Amino acid sequence: MRVAVVGAGIAGLSTAWSLNKRGHDVTLFEQAPQIPNPYAASGDQHRIIRRAYGAADGYARTITEAFEAWDELWADLGKRHYAPCGVLGISQTEGDEGEEYREGLDRTGSPYQLYDAAEAARRYPFIDPATIRYAYLSPEGGALFPARIAGDLVRLLRERGVAIREGAEVAVIDPEVGRLTLVDGEQASFDRIVVSAGAWVLKLLPDLAGTLTTYRTAVVYLDPPEDLKAAWQAAPTIVDVGGTIDGYVLPPVDGTGLKFGAGIHKRPRQPGEEREPRPGEGEVLRDCFSPPFARIAEYRVDRVVTCAYTFTADRKFFARQIGRVTAVSACSGHGYKFGAAVGRRVAAAVESGDQAGLLRWLRAE
Ligand SMILES: Cc1cc2nc3c(=O)[nH]c(=O)nc-3n(C[C@H](O)[C@H](O)[C@H](O)COP(=O)(O)OP(=O)(O)OC[C@H]3O[C@@H](n4cnc5c(N)ncnc54)[C@H](O)[C@@H]3O)c2cc1C
Repeated sequence: MRVAVVGAGIAGLSTAWSLNKRGHDVTLFEQAPQIPNPYAASGDQHRIIRRAYGAADGYARTITEAFEAWDELWADLGKRHYAPCGVLGISQTEGDEGEEYREGLDRTGSPYQLYDAAEAARRYPFIDPATIRYAYLSPEGGALFPARIAGDLVRLLRERGVAIREGAEVAVIDPEVGRLTLVDGEQASFDRIVVSAGAWVLKLLPDLAGTLTTYRTAVVYLDPPEDLKAAWQAAPTIVDVGGTIDGYVLPPVDGTGLKFGAGIHKRPRQPGEEREPRPGEGEVLRDCFSPPFARIAEYRVDRVVTCAYTFTADRKFFARQIGRVTAVSACSGHGYKFGAAVGRRVAAAVESGDQAGLLRWLRAE
């Protein structure tokens, strides 16, 4: 089949990878001048992959397939863009998200080490022990490196004959006949079109507005105090810092920076709106992390990275068939870790036409 993929985030790149392996003729369209688009969800330095999934046991179980799909990709790339540094959870108050993640590990029988506050601060000296109840380390998971994965996938896909069109914004799609039109007026027709356009999907398929909401968020890269640098360099990823901020941390592994992000920081916006960081935004974000971290004011803001992404109401992933188009959104802030697996599943569904099966898998039911 001739298949177009619109959007070269991890969902589009992986779908193109898998379709190409299945023998299809693939053209990948990306609006940004270069892949990855730094403002897209898949454009940053690192993302967490973890077994811990709180109440979402279905996604916790699907992680086995996610790891397996990444292994297939590493074998094809001849390189592994993954640091298995483990995943830490922290609980500050009874029933907080840090605790929910631990309860999920219990339910799925996944192993972890539990540390009381004093032991957690001994192992991770950036933690203020007076502010936490406990921490726990899950050995399964760590950091994936999206920008490096994108760069290598683009090279691999080109070598394998996928047509990659950077700086090619699709303006209009006609799902019934499988035709797309670029902003410069160029038209092309395909047997199938996969739309994996991230936060921009509603520009192409406005009928999805009832299902998907677009947000703008920001993460802050920090320079920690000198005496804590070694501790951060040896730190695991942190899935949740406890309390109410939905906060997570990526440590400075393998040449990346120390990054803090918080779910409470997102705001409903159109992609492109408020792209520049607000004055003082990095400090505001940083200060959300005390508690549980000590001496937070001593962390220097290096830079703030803004980003656009979509959510569904129940935070599950989403796909819809519209004529010859399959629209996919594996986001809601937690889809990168499934990227390679999503690509394989979308490619299989494009081939078989089993959209209901794809949706069930995406929803981890
Ligand atoms: C701050 C933040 C932290 C996150 N942390 C994690 C994490 O730790 N772990 C995890 O698993 N997940 C995480 N996620 C979620 C994860 O990043 C996303 O699920 C994933 O990157 C989504 O990939 P995507 O390919 O669907 O979309 P995107 O990466 O947004 O890609 C969409 C692409 O489509 C292109 N495009 C759009 N419209 C057009 C058009 N008309 N024509 C051509 N091209 C177009 C865009 O330029 C873009 O490159 C996080 C997300 C954010 C924002």
